[in-house]
Amino acid sequence: MSVTETGLRDELLATAIAMGEAGLNVGTSGNASVRWNKRILITPSGIAATACTAADMAELDSSGTSRGPLAPSSEWQLHRDIYAAFPQAGAIVHAHAPFATALACQRRGIPAFHYMIARFGGTDVRCAPYATFGTQALSDRVVDALTGRSACLLSNHGMVVYGRDLAHALAQAIEFETLCEQYWRTLQLGEPVLLSAAEMADVIERFRWYGRPRADARS
Ligand SMILES: [Zn+2]
Repeated sequence: MSVTETGLRDELLATAIAMGEAGLNVGTSGNASVRWNKRILITPSGIAATACTAADMAELDSSGTSRGPLAPSSEWQLHRDIYAAFPQAGAIVHAHAPFATALACQRRGIPAFHYMIARFGGTDVRCAPYATFGTQALSDRVVDALTGRSACLLSNHGMVVYGRDLAHALAQAIEFETLCEQYWRTLQLGEPVLLSAAEMADVIERFRWYGRPRADARS
């Protein structure tokens, strides 16, 4: 992965376009960002990704001062505060994805209905209480809801997912929306049977080593 500013700008724009192609966003809704040195590169406000160039990606410092030809996304505080609260976050995707948003409008988090919920850090994914978009109050509630997790729902709004880099954040966002669709479909049949705390503890332990080299294969 490129770590140059030019490379990250290209990658951020490509991620924003890919969010639309994956059905996570329509038009100007949603936004994405990536951590860059002690700054943030973030998609601009009020313009569709398909109408942007890499030079349109806004640059923010930790005080919220922005640089670039366009204003940063109206949710820039949310992005800034997630990076500050979670050092492991390298990139963030915020979307009004259809199934995540349907659940968010019920103000319901996602319980352990499927073991893959553990991919997002624990036994559930929370739904942050409602606050107006673009406010510090919303940012504070989302940071709380993300404690120990890499995804959350935003009441009557959408979802936020972070990952170690843009490719990871996008993949996780698509995976999360898939999980939301599965939960939504499950609810059509009634309340699901939830996994127990012991069953989820076993899953979380297995995920701890999932995709890593075997300990006995290390030199
Ligand atoms: Zn939004």
